[in-house]
Amino acid sequence: ADFLDRAELGFATSPGVIDEPDQPAPPVPVSTYGRLGERVRAWQAGLDALGVGEGERVAVVSHNSARLLELLFAVPMSGRICVPVNFRLRPEEVDYVVRQSGASVLLVDPELDQALAGVKARHRFVLGEETETGLMRFGVEPRPWSRPDEDATATINYTSGTTARPKGVQLTHRNIWVNGLTFGLHTRVWERDVYLHTLPMFHCNGWGMPFVMAGLGVKQVVLRKVDGAEILRRVEEHGVTLMCGAPAVWNMVLDAAASWQGEIPGRDRVRVVCAGAPPPSRTIQRMEEELGWEFTQIYGLTETSPLLTFNRTRPADLHLPAPERARKLSRAGLPALGVTLGISDGGEVLARSNVVLEGYWDKPEETAEALQDGWFHTGDGGTIDPADGHLTISDRKKDVIITGGENVSSIEVEDVIFSHPAVAEVAVIGVPDEKWGETIKALVVLAEGASAAEADIIAHCKERMAGYKAPTSVEFRDVIPRTATGKIQKFKLREPYWAGRERQVN
Ligand code: ATP
Repeated sequence: ADFLDRAELGFATSPGVIDEPDQPAPPVPVSTYGRLGERVRAWQAGLDALGVGEGERVAVVSHNSARLLELLFAVPMSGRICVPVNFRLRPEEVDYVVRQSGASVLLVDPELDQALAGVKARHRFVLGEETETGLMRFGVEPRPWSRPDEDATATINYTSGTTARPKGVQLTHRNIWVNGLTFGLHTRVWERDVYLHTLPMFHCNGWGMPFVMAGLGVKQVVLRKVDGAEILRRVEEHGVTLMCGAPAVWNMVLDAAASWQGEIPGRDRVRVVCAGAPPPSRTIQRMEEELGWEFTQIYGLTETSPLLTFNRTRPADLHLPAPERARKLSRAGLPALGVTLGISDGGEVLARSNVVLEGYWDKPEETAEALQDGWFHTGDGGTIDPADGHLTISDRKKDVIITGGENVSSIEVEDVIFSHPAVAEVAVIGVPDEKWGETIKALVVLAEGASAAEADIIAHCKERMAGYKAPTSVEFRDVIPRTATGKIQKFKLREPYWAGRERQVN
């Protein structure tokens, strides 16, 4: 609750949230933090009027919008538990999340109203401000702030399900503020910053941002749809200084920058935080060279609120050649303040910190498996460099390819393939093989107008890495499907090749 309390008191008249609807709608006027506080309290009064009690779950499915941002504050700050739902889920998947969390109310973005009509019929719902009962209108008497217990559950964030069915990650109020504090500290957030929301706020990466930014009095610009040119335009228009997004977002911006007329906006001003997936070193280098935007990498999981490590070029490394700097920055980095990292005997990254989840909602077995002897098990393979303490993620345990008894990191192979100039996107997976158990396959999307043959890609890899790590086949595709947070769902890509067969995982 401190975040908004602080924002309302200290930054009541400062610009708070700007909601940018899709073009060509007229821009929405800037709202102050004072106004944000009022609206949040009105939502709370609306939930009171609906009879939603303390500890009850309130599911919200929405695109990024000022309304979603208000609800992310309103629900937990009145002692209820927020369940932000991925707006890209199919109706039956939304239904699963609502049921699994036991939400008593489902709030639906009016834009998704039709698509989710079937789900709404099965649950109690309120349609944003437009509810017929008028309960959520802002005429309701705003209620005073309540101060939920630090250890109380604030939110249940569902993992994006890149490896299995989504699990509800229970995070407490303490998790929220510790994550906010360390993010603010390590990315140097202050009240002259202007933050552009390029991450979906239903997902843990984006969900924590409104809290940090409000607590530090930062102007926030909410983008509904993320697109390279749109980001450049908004950076210019609002004097944006800070953004956070997955590598796929920065690749889109780089593409858009190639045809951008005039000076790249925000050169030497913008700080970019890259989160959610391993960034290829070519992307990092191009960000600095072509855009002049400072690059910080963070690593974490929904289960860790999410910040575990961060990596920014240190003053002592500024003199290094650009490719070397980019290579160093492509590592996950140093533990954030208050985080202790470990590596298990099997090579899995372990973490201990105040940002670690309380548990998976209604899944005691999975909780016990993830939290053992005080350590959270990340499911990621990794190593810590004894020379400088930096963590490198080698791969998700489930995505490691075991070929002829050798473990190959799909991330490492992707990084090499991505350094080929004709490649726009790549995903590397293991497919069944009679002789080797599994063998390496690369799915590649070529850059517009570029051409390359399967043999070129394979030769490019063999020149740069051990032969057994090179793909044995390359398939060219038009698109590689990603989650709303820009992650590649490799289990889905593998499925057609493994139908009816058991895949061995370390
Ligand atoms: P699942 O549903 O399988 O748990 P998810 O994609 O929902 O997956 P998230 O919490 O969204 O899970 O993502 C966490 C994972 O993303 C990490 O375990 C790691 O594999 C990957 N990841 C996040 N940041 C980075 C990074 N900087 N470098 C490498 N991998 C990263």
